[in-house]
Amino acid sequence: MFNIDSSVLIFGGAGTLGSSTALHLARKGFRNIHVLDVYPIPSAQSAGNDLNKIMGTSLRNPVDKQLSLEAEDMWSNDPTFSPFYHRSGRLDCCGSPDGIQDLRDTVAKLQQAGLGHTVEWLDTEAQIVQRVPQLAGSDIQGWKGIFFEKGGWLAAAKAIDSVGKELVRHGVKFSFGDSGVFDSLILSDDGKNCLGAVTKDGTRYLADRVVLASGAWTPSLVDLEDQCCSKAWVYAHMQLTPDEVKAYAGCPVVYNEDLGFFFEPNENGVIKVCDEFPGFTRYKMHQPFGSPKPISVSVPRSHARHPTDTYPHASEVTIRKAIAAFLPKFKDKELFNRAMCWCADTADANLLICEHPLWKNFFLATGDSGHSFKLLPIIGKHIVELLAGTLQKDMREAWRWRPGSGDARKSVRRASAKDLADLPGWKHESKESKESSKEQNKD
Ligand code: FAD
Repeated sequence: MFNIDSSVLIFGGAGTLGSSTALHLARKGFRNIHVLDVYPIPSAQSAGNDLNKIMGTSLRNPVDKQLSLEAEDMWSNDPTFSPFYHRSGRLDCCGSPDGIQDLRDTVAKLQQAGLGHTVEWLDTEAQIVQRVPQLAGSDIQGWKGIFFEKGGWLAAAKAIDSVGKELVRHGVKFSFGDSGVFDSLILSDDGKNCLGAVTKDGTRYLADRVVLASGAWTPSLVDLEDQCCSKAWVYAHMQLTPDEVKAYAGCPVVYNEDLGFFFEPNENGVIKVCDEFPGFTRYKMHQPFGSPKPISVSVPRSHARHPTDTYPHASEVTIRKAIAAFLPKFKDKELFNRAMCWCADTADANLLICEHPLWKNFFLATGDSGHSFKLLPIIGKHIVELLAGTLQKDMREAWRWRPGSGDARKSVRRASAKDLADLPGWKHESKESKESSKEQNKD
C-alpha cells in the first residue's frame, strides 16, 4: 500500500527530476519524504543549476505533447514556477539542407499533433530579422526559421531554488553531503525487495520506496546495462555593457542545430552561449551497484567539485564560431565561466522512469537526454504516479526498462560522442580539486 504515511527516499532530490518528485509528494500531503543529495538544493552539480534553459514544445517522443502542454500550464500559472518563465519567444533556425529539413519535419510534427498554430514558418532572412531584429547584420544567408511566439527561457537555478523553498515549507527532510550521497541499496534476504539505502557515510535509511534521480551520475551508481550514457555539454558566458544590454533585452532565444544557441542577457547583463554537438563522454572502468565486476561507464566529473575545469579547446572553437555567426558584434568579447554540464542520454532520447526489474520498490528517474529541464514543474507528478502504481500506460511504455534497445552512446544525435580522454584543454586541476578527488576517491 502506498499512501501519505509511506516513507520515500529521493536521491538526487536537489536536482531537476528529484526535486519535482519531492514537490508533488509534498503537495499530495506525504509526511515522510526525505531528499538526499551531494549538494544542497539547488545542487551545484545539477544540470539544472544554470542561468537559463530553453522552454518550448518539443515532440520527440510519444508522450511529449501531453508533457509539454502540462509543463507550459504550470510554468505559466503555478506561483512556484511562473516568476521564472520568460516569454521572449524562440527562433529555431538553420542554413544547412539537413537542418532546414529538420525544421520542416518539426512543423509537420506540430501540425499532426494539432499544434501547427503555435509556430510560424520564416522563409527568408528578412522574415527572420523581423522576428529577431538582433540578428540584423549576422551571417544568416540562406537560413530558414520557425518562430514560437509562446516559447522562451526559464531561469533554471532560481526555479529549482523556488521548489526547494516550497519543500522547506512542507516540512520535507533533507540530508546533504556524505549523509546524502547514494552508496548502495539495502535488499531483503532473498534479494528481491529494496528496503532502503546506505549513504557514503555509512548511514542506513529504511523506506517504503527509494527513488534514484541522480541524473548523469546514475549509470555510475547503479548498473543500468548501458541504457544511459553520461555526456557533457558546454557553455560560456559573456558580459554586455549597459548599452548592449538595452539592445539585446527581450531578444528571443535563438537556436541553430548546426551551431548552438544563446539567450537574452540576464539581470546582470550576462549572455550564455552554447554550441551544438553530440556531447563528450568520460569512459572509465567503474563498478556500479548491481554489477558483479568493474565495467566501462562514462563517469561525470562535476564543475562543482572541480571548479577550475573548463572545456576542451575544440569547444572554444565551436562556441566562437557560433558567436561569430549569430552575435558577430561580440566576436572579440572575453568569455568566462567556461564549463561542462552533465546529462544522461538514452538510445531513443526518452526518459528512463521505471521500477527496477530486480529490486521491487526501487525506482529510477533518469535518462533526461539533455532536454528535460522544461519538465521541472510536471515530471514529478508522473513519477509519483509510478510510485503509486497508477502511471498511465503510454508513459509506462515510453519510460520502461529497455536494455539492448539501442545505442545510448550515439542516441538520436548525428554522431557518437567523443571522449574527454582524447580532447585536451579542459582539465585544470587545482591543488584543492586534486585533494578532493583523492579524498572522495571519485570525481
Ligand atoms: P540533475 O538535475 O543533474 O540532477 C541530478 C542530481 O543528482 C544532482 O542534484 C546531483 O547532485 C545528484 N547526485 C549525483 N550523484 C549523487 C549521489 N551519489 N547521491 C545523491 N545525489 C546525487 N533542458 C531543457 O529543457 N532546455 C534546455 O535548454 C536545456 N539546455 C541544456 C544545456 C546544457 C549545457 C545542459 C548540460 C543541459 C541542458 N538541458 C536542457 C537538459 C536539462 O538540464 C536536464 O535534462 C535536466 O536538468 C536533468 O535533470 P536530472 O534530474 O536528470 O539531473
